[in-house]
Amino acid sequence: MEEKNKSALYVMEGVEQPAPVNPDLHNRIKNNRKKHLPAETYIEGIFNGNRTLLSQAITLVESSLPADQHKAQQIIAACLKQRPNTQTDTENRQQAPFSSIRVGITGVPGVGKSTFIEALGTCLTARGHHLAVLAIDPSSSRSKGSILGDKTRMESLSVDPKAFIRPSPSAGSLGGVARKTRETIILCEAAGFDVIFVETVGVGQSETAVHGMVDFFLLLMLAGAGDELQGIKRGIIEMADAIFINKADGDNLPKAMAARVEYANALHLFPPPAGGWKPVVDTCSARTGSGIDTVWETILSHHETTTRSGAFTERRRGQNLQIFFESLEEGLKQSFFSRKSLAHSLEKMEGAIREGQVNPYTAAQELLDRYLREK
Ligand code: GDP
Repeated sequence: MEEKNKSALYVMEGVEQPAPVNPDLHNRIKNNRKKHLPAETYIEGIFNGNRTLLSQAITLVESSLPADQHKAQQIIAACLKQRPNTQTDTENRQQAPFSSIRVGITGVPGVGKSTFIEALGTCLTARGHHLAVLAIDPSSSRSKGSILGDKTRMESLSVDPKAFIRPSPSAGSLGGVARKTRETIILCEAAGFDVIFVETVGVGQSETAVHGMVDFFLLLMLAGAGDELQGIKRGIIEMADAIFINKADGDNLPKAMAARVEYANALHLFPPPAGGWKPVVDTCSARTGSGIDTVWETILSHHETTTRSGAFTERRRGQNLQIFFESLEEGLKQSFFSRKSLAHSLEKMEGAIREGQVNPYTAAQELLDRYLREK
């Protein structure tokens, strides 16, 4: 063999490359990857339920580049203007002023959240609903891991054409992640998803953030884990619209039934949430599917009750107010800290405070006064 033919890269003559089956495919993939599509293309794509464009628009929402953010805001504004056109049978939601239901799902790691979402989710898509599953995990540098996790743990849902699974945006402050998740909800609803699940993957504070963006807050718990109320903060139990004790199957069933009574008694001690809804305590098994129907019936019943009492609309409007104030705060903060003319003084003040030469209140007031004077 000649020297040059020894290379692994050597292509033997006479081996013809087959023509691509679809010569258009290469261009289509290339175009899909193009990042610089105009906002209108994303908007139209989202309204047509195009998942590729929806995913790309969510990536814009998650991006911190100013140009991406600008485009993301245009897309969100357009999505907010147009009421989503859901393709679902909405027999139970005739009088609803909003055409989607947002459900927060929380519980300690291992309680069975992914298994539960897979079970309830497949049940919903079989009934004709379109489901988006979002995760919120501010502690996450494991967002890449959770893509894999979601794909393997929610096997049926991840290939279900009526479901859309989007893992948590990669790590950031809880406020930042929560905001991105809220915006992602808006895009998903505009794309025709009429049921949105927001799962907390992190533990701790993220429950409060999720509670602030959903219509129904579901707490999954385990039976027999020592002191029944241990591990889950009182505040979280207080926020729950329903508590379901998961893994109520096999040998665990009697323990689950006992835990149900205990939690129901514990709930009596809390003031009932507004809107005429009494939190439900029940059992289910994400593994066998028993009680999963009851969960959905509970969510629908809550929707009906709170729609009738006006609490549903009030909760969403309260959430909008919260978004309004958060956005104002964030905007002001950003404007202050990006003011170039203040950067030097800011640094000087920092040093002076460290050295104990000025008191922090006076220093802050001085800088704020300068900020407000200068335009
Ligand atoms: P997550 O961490 O809350 O998302 O929990 P997973 O869904 O990953 O479930 C943790 C473990 O509990 C897995 O081994 C599941 O198979 C198991 N599991 C989940 N739901 C049930 C259930 O209803 N019954 C039983 N016996 N096991 C369950």
